[in-house]
Amino acid sequence: MNHFPIFLNTSGRRIVLSGGGDAAMAKLRLLMKTTANITVFALKAAPEIEGWAEAGKLTLIARAMEPGDAMCAALFYAADEDATEDKRTAAIAHADGALVNIVDNLADSQFITPAIVDRDPVTIAIGTEGAAPVLARAIKADLEERLPTGLGTLAAIGKAFRKAADALPFGRARRDFWRDYYFNAGPKAIANGVEAVQPALDDLLADHLLKDTRKGHVAFVGAGPGDPELLTLKARKALDEADVVIYDRLISSEILELARREATMIDVGKEAFGPSTPQETINDLIVEHGAKGAQVVRLKSGDATVFGRLDEEIDAVTDAGLEWHIVPGITSASAAVASIGQSLTKRGRNTSVRFLTGHDMTGFADHDWKALANPGEVAAVYMGKKSARFIQGRLLMHGIAPDTPVTVIENASRADQRVLSTTVAEMEPTISEAQMNGPALTFIGLAPRAAQAALPHVPTVQSTPLTAQEAR
Ligand code: SAH
Repeated sequence: MNHFPIFLNTSGRRIVLSGGGDAAMAKLRLLMKTTANITVFALKAAPEIEGWAEAGKLTLIARAMEPGDAMCAALFYAADEDATEDKRTAAIAHADGALVNIVDNLADSQFITPAIVDRDPVTIAIGTEGAAPVLARAIKADLEERLPTGLGTLAAIGKAFRKAADALPFGRARRDFWRDYYFNAGPKAIANGVEAVQPALDDLLADHLLKDTRKGHVAFVGAGPGDPELLTLKARKALDEADVVIYDRLISSEILELARREATMIDVGKEAFGPSTPQETINDLIVEHGAKGAQVVRLKSGDATVFGRLDEEIDAVTDAGLEWHIVPGITSASAAVASIGQSLTKRGRNTSVRFLTGHDMTGFADHDWKALANPGEVAAVYMGKKSARFIQGRLLMHGIAPDTPVTVIENASRADQRVLSTTVAEMEPTISEAQMNGPALTFIGLAPRAAQAALPHVPTVQSTPLTAQEAR
């Protein structure tokens, strides 16, 4: 780092600038944000600069700079856009003792002016040591977009509130309060006008003082199969209120973005057959944060109650004496069946549907294969890719019709969703060959609606017409 960033107190100090054109104006627009006394030397000044002089924002002296003109100045800008004149004025200012900047001449400048994001009193200076002005501008644009425009006002009001907020214990509690103010309650309040900010601060403090004694709570939230629009409103609300979000590998980034910006996000991704966070560690994490008084969201893919080891987590939370509740989500079987235009149950075809797991703690999971081999049966197999050959073997052994449809839906509800339509006879090696890397759900006994007609074995039992009672 050659250029060390500091914030210079310009209040009541002199800043001198030589030049009257575009470069001068660009710098003056920035400098006029300060409380410095600005003096401009220019033989010929743009009308804007004359206007600023008339408005008392700066002093305009209509002549070229002379020795002594930058006396006692804190900063000097050579902005004549003329190398010879810039060199001359810079030498004068240097002799007068001012720090010198020559516009667009990094090498001969003693300081550079950063790109500035102004939310006075919050000021962000971005510098690249002159290496990449485009990058500095891009970062500036990004920050401008991200920081609420009222942030400065919020900071000014917040400053006056610091004493009151000291009622909160030092450390985390106080930090949480201020974060909540600047990024949540504050921006919301200021949308209703500046007058709304003070009452919002009072409410927020009361809330946080209470929160300090509030017990932690754990919400086990189903995040659905991936499409953020398949989140329930309750899940969104829980994410909105969470202090800590502990999430699984399958949770899509779009959903994580919905959490409060200041929430602590903890990835406890568990990969089947791969590296994973042990369940005990996950339990401990949930309890640790809950015990600290946090509102914890334990975010699980699909529905938290389906193959989610939910009960182990509930036991841990209950043992720790914490309160909890479950927010149901859309399980991947629901999203997958929707994507192939089918029903999970159908009159005359299947009066029940099974949710199976391909593997359990002991390996490939065993099921009632005989019942599953019956015509018309429908089963949704979770975590079924690796066990496809095992399932195929068991079903054939128990006499399932080999042309029974099998459909695998990978990344259901996501942009990269894929549907593989096959039969029990061919499911392996078809599934392995398809090399599906995303989460996939396998339906036994269901074909995509469009492909159904071509498959002879899907029972097309014509049910008797519904009675009015049943149809209801
Ligand atoms: N609780 C989850 C299931 C967790 S087990 C639920 O209700 O959906 C993880 C398995 O769920 C994956 O191996 C896969 O079989 C299935 N799964 C999760 N998300 C999926 C998706 N978007 N598309 C297809 N299958 C998915």
